[in-house]
Amino acid sequence: MPGPIDYSKLRILPDYDTVEWWAGTKQRKYLVRQCNACGHKWFPPIFPACARCTSMDIGWFETAGRGVLHSYVVVVQPIVGAFIGAVPYVVAIIELDDCKEADGSVTRVAGVMLNDEAEVAIGLPCAVEYEETSDAKIVMPRWRVSGTAANTWKFAE
Ligand SMILES: [Zn+2]
Repeated sequence: MPGPIDYSKLRILPDYDTVEWWAGTKQRKYLVRQCNACGHKWFPPIFPACARCTSMDIGWFETAGRGVLHSYVVVVQPIVGAFIGAVPYVVAIIELDDCKEADGSVTRVAGVMLNDEAEVAIGLPCAVEYEETSDAKIVMPRWRVSGTAANTWKFAE
């Protein structure tokens, strides 16, 4: 398991586009943007219009916080001080199970895994967990491998 993230060294300031998303994580809800006109979903929530139909009538979709590990990278050199004690850690892209659309589009999110490199592989199921931070207003979603899969793939070590 990676070391702890020192959240006291991060300053997360929700803005107009993300304040509701951070309110969701505080309530242990993993939200993605959803178009109220056509139902298309996307992440991150910083784009204020639907890429499919251009509507600006947008809302939120509460996902189940489960998905499949689509890809990952292992960070060994911390870029910011908050991660000095966390290296090596895995940043993964998770394809959300309940955001697949009829046209084949999917919604992928990024997150820091609670598992270390030896435990992750592309294709494994993952579930979100929530981590308190040093800022009572901010709850950080993290991801953890939640099962096994028949076909997985790992980057060569
Ligand atoms: Zn739309």
